[in-house]
Amino acid sequence: MREAVSKTEWVLQKALACAKIPAMENLGFKWSTVRRLGIMGGTFDPIHHGHLVAAEQVRQGYDLDRVVFIPSGRPPHKLDSEISSAKDRYLMGLLAIVDSPRFCVSLVELMREEIAYTIDTLRQLRSWSGPRCELYFIAGADMALDLPTWRQPDAVLDECRFIAVERPGYDLASVEQVLGAKRAAKVEVVSAPTPDISATDIRKRVAAGKSIAGLTPEPVSQYIAAAGLYSA
Ligand code: ATP
Ligand code: MG
Repeated sequence: MREAVSKTEWVLQKALACAKIPAMENLGFKWSTVRRLGIMGGTFDPIHHGHLVAAEQVRQGYDLDRVVFIPSGRPPHKLDSEISSAKDRYLMGLLAIVDSPRFCVSLVELMREEIAYTIDTLRQLRSWSGPRCELYFIAGADMALDLPTWRQPDAVLDECRFIAVERPGYDLASVEQVLGAKRAAKVEVVSAPTPDISATDIRKRVAAGKSIAGLTPEPVSQYIAAAGLYSA
């Protein structure tokens, strides 16, 4: 595993070093064949079963052709030291979806030098997908209720179908109260259970030497151990 990790790291580092945002990212499918595309943004530090279950619930519920996970560049509220590298988060994403042919991981936000806002990413994907593809932005309840703080929230709601997924500990019943009636009317709620897992808890468990079995796919756990992530 360790050898495989360092080899993939080397290849990816080379790719990132000379890469620009591709004219059209190759995500392993032909854009012309995709009619309904799910998009899930996040820090994914690390990706875990909460993300995968939420994405799969929406994929099935809306008959999506593909779901693309988009790890963010460094979010404005987090320091470099507080977040794993682009390389680590991208590789963990790939390891998590390796057995899921309808899932893929995009470099689009990781490659931007400036902060990538969701609205910019949606417009980038729209330019690749063409007008006939429906874009479904998938947000966990916490992220959906945070929408008013995003850059251009109304433009985001106009660019995609905005799907809010239940997450333990957050109450989507308050969506109208938090977002207001006009925005809430554009948010579609998927009431299907997702596991009570957070990346914060995974990082804490690793730092405390506790097991993370069952919280994230096994290859991701192995990568975390091999790369020495989150250890105190
Ligand atoms: P952190 O604890 O570092 O914030 P996280 O577990 O919240 O990590 P993120 O990368 O912040 O993961 O989240 C990406 C997206 O996945 C967000 O829309 C978030 O709401 C959603 N999400 C994360 N965990 C779950 C879960 N258990 N159920 C449903 N949605 C989830
Ligand atoms: Mg989060």
